[in-house]
Amino acid sequence: MEYVDVELPPPGPGEARVKHEAIGLNFIDVYFRTGLYPQPLPNGLGVEGAGIVEAVGEGVTEVKVGDRVAYAARINGAYAQQRNLPAALLLVLPERIGFDTAAAMMLQGLTVQYLFHRTVALKAGDTILFHAAAGGVGLIACQWAKVLGVNLIGTAGSDEKAALAKAHGAAHVINYNTENFVERVREITGGKGVSVVYDSIGKDTFTGSLDCLAPLGMMVSFGNASGPVPAFTLSELASRGSLFITRPALFSYASNRANLEEMATSLFGVVSSGEVQIEINQRYGLAHIAQAHTDLEGRKTTGSTIIVP
Ligand code: NDP
Repeated sequence: MEYVDVELPPPGPGEARVKHEAIGLNFIDVYFRTGLYPQPLPNGLGVEGAGIVEAVGEGVTEVKVGDRVAYAARINGAYAQQRNLPAALLLVLPERIGFDTAAAMMLQGLTVQYLFHRTVALKAGDTILFHAAAGGVGLIACQWAKVLGVNLIGTAGSDEKAALAKAHGAAHVINYNTENFVERVREITGGKGVSVVYDSIGKDTFTGSLDCLAPLGMMVSFGNASGPVPAFTLSELASRGSLFITRPALFSYASNRANLEEMATSLFGVVSSGEVQIEINQRYGLAHIAQAHTDLEGRKTTGSTIIVP
């Protein structure tokens, strides 16, 4: 990554210029940087931010100059003081939600929203397994599960992280570096297994996650922090009890304005009410973005991280 000055043209038709007050850091940024998710180079990085609309292009109806807005958009380039974006991707922030919170929660919070309400419609009493429960997505998931009355079994890479996830509402947390998470899930569920596994770790946990599912359970493979999921045969789903599997991405769930607004209203609701608190545990200046990536990849962060432009 290189820090460079670039000319920003005026916003084009349908675009708005956002002056960032805060930028979100996400694991997807690492995938783009390493090339796991290829992109043309040179390019910007970063998919999330919050700030003020400074100018709008022709035909923009969604926002106006001076609006406080935030976004999570699959268009790299958020690591910047200002940028132009399609206005249809911007959401006007409720007064109670500050810029730091917004930049920390848009991508991770909208993800938990669709994972818990759309990928599977969780209901009170369900028992689920959620990996990396002390991370950015993870701490939001722990709290949101509690709101829904869902028993969330979390995993985390240290006892300190496990305690943090527990303090945020996880019913049980397994340190998967010192304990066999498959055995522990079987113990906790009295041998039954869970109805849904949310696995963002990928390579290291995929097979074990399948082993944690009850018959007809749903494997939600939504990330690859340890590397891509290895090839597997469909019969592995049959032999474990007719399992289901999906590989969702936020940007398909939020691909039209109506869905995006509905998901955002739900997220803004649980955050405004205080039921879900966005824990920002790291802040880095934009000039120190390399350190931020090193820490995120090195499993040194907990909760959410923001970049200060
Ligand atoms: P996190 O804050 O959760 O950071 C990733 C965590 O993964 C680490 O802190 C670490 O926690 C755990 N981990 C386990 N193995 C490794 C490894 N080998 N290398 C690095 N980390 C590892 O990140 P985010 O909250 O930004 O994202 C969480 C996951 O969700 C990511 O995989 C991301 O890609 C995915 N995601 C997917 C979306 C989708 O729509 N599909 C949208 C948003 C996020 P520990 O030490 O406790 O194991």
